[in-house]
Amino acid sequence: MSNKMSRRKFLKVVAGSGVLGFGVMASGCKGKPSGGDGWVSSQYEGKGNFPVNLKGRVAISATNPSIERDDEKCILCGQCVDACKNVMGVYGNYPLPLKQEIACVGCGQCVMQCPSGAITEKSHVRKVLDALDDDTKHVVVQTAPATKVSLGEEFGMPQGTSVGKKMAGALKAAGFDSVFDTCFAADLTIMEEASEFVHRLTKKKDEIPHLTSCCPGWVKYCEYFYPELMHNLSTCKSPQNMLGATIKSFYADKMGINPSNIVNVSIMPCTAKKFEVGREELEVDGQQDMDYVLTTRELAVLLKHKGIDLNTVAEAEYDSVLGESTGAGRIFGATGGVTEAAVRTAYYLATGSNPPADLLDWKPVRGMQSVKEAVASIPGVGAVNIAVCHGLENARQLLDGIKATGSSKWQFIEFMACPGGCIGGGGQPKSMDAVEAKKKRIEAIYKEDTGATKRCSHDNAEIQSIYKDFFGKPLSEKAEKYLHTTFVNRHDRLFD
Ligand code: SF4
Ligand code: SF4
Repeated sequence: MSNKMSRRKFLKVVAGSGVLGFGVMASGCKGKPSGGDGWVSSQYEGKGNFPVNLKGRVAISATNPSIERDDEKCILCGQCVDACKNVMGVYGNYPLPLKQEIACVGCGQCVMQCPSGAITEKSHVRKVLDALDDDTKHVVVQTAPATKVSLGEEFGMPQGTSVGKKMAGALKAAGFDSVFDTCFAADLTIMEEASEFVHRLTKKKDEIPHLTSCCPGWVKYCEYFYPELMHNLSTCKSPQNMLGATIKSFYADKMGINPSNIVNVSIMPCTAKKFEVGREELEVDGQQDMDYVLTTRELAVLLKHKGIDLNTVAEAEYDSVLGESTGAGRIFGATGGVTEAAVRTAYYLATGSNPPADLLDWKPVRGMQSVKEAVASIPGVGAVNIAVCHGLENARQLLDGIKATGSSKWQFIEFMACPGGCIGGGGQPKSMDAVEAKKKRIEAIYKEDTGATKRCSHDNAEIQSIYKDFFGKPLSEKAEKYLHTTFVNRHDRLFD
């Protein structure tokens, strides 16, 4: 008998007898329906046929686009439940048995907690390698801000090492045709979102509080649990998808390439982005903005497969005309960064001047406190009350407070699903000291901001030229077509 069979048999026996603390997971082995108090075994669509109570671990659908579990590696520790329930506020917040679908926002925090590597992202590495080998395809890649301060960890570099230019060099060496910067698209997002926020503040007050929409984990959470607030979500696509749509329209035109021959790949700290790329609401003229998402960890696998070492690869610049970024675009990767960047440009839009020094180093929205509050004084607009929230269980508590009182004391609220924001995303390198890793990554991101020659999105010369040459102005008809989206009420899939 193989070791594999022995281990599984052992775990079944242990689970069934309730020894070694496994009693909580044992009801599925005692004759009750799997999950005992509500889970239905047929709703667990895992790869294996492991008759263990779902109460002990999160259920993952076989069709989940973000994550999957190898049951043979699962040691039934329950860490995934802890992450899903206590950090993300998903597990345990819907009635059982499940009604229509297995609830998952795709954040991948269970991946980060799983000690045995049983849960992983659903890999796109093979598909990207195939695209790179296909001479008929023009393969374009973009890199998210949080990956630039974490990829080095996969190559033995100290936490918080900034490797943006090395990553650009490595991607060129790997054969990508163009290497663009998601930080450019973060600047584009800010142009749209700050304009939308100022418009809502002055003309559409029923859409205040303005809720950010760049995190697909948070957006899906809102669609599941707070659909009544969907009209408060910014209609802006995330930077990933804004850039994807721009590549398949503006860039395709400029290069004379049929958009159907472009393969858009992103390097993201995020597993929820793998869900996001398939959202129908994001399509333009029936075409997906994005094709594949590689997490930071997957990019390391791909580079190592190709024999590319980040330590020794030559640095390169991002490609023009979708490669310039400001400090504002780079801080998107940390909790509070979207808010700080948006306020810098909202100030400019309202006053015609760049913000004062305190708003360029806006401490109240920075740091790991679960909910941060701040007030921005913008001449002509007044005092804007802002909240910044990361971790979806924290979001639940904040939103339940708003529901209970029927009003919000904040006009702008940033939500990021993962603790710390994208620097703590479910696709990031794993670390024995995750708290320290997040701290170092955040420090690196703000260092990039203070060291940038331009720190406000509206000062980005490539952003100015793309509005001049293509979009016209923020919130124009063309900008709405390519850069904005709609949302789906998913409440009924979980609740009667
Ligand atoms: S965290 Fe991983 S090992 Fe632990 S129960 Fe969940 S899937 Fe299994
Ligand atoms: S916080 Fe960032 S990494 Fe986490 S789900 Fe949202 S977009 Fe993805």
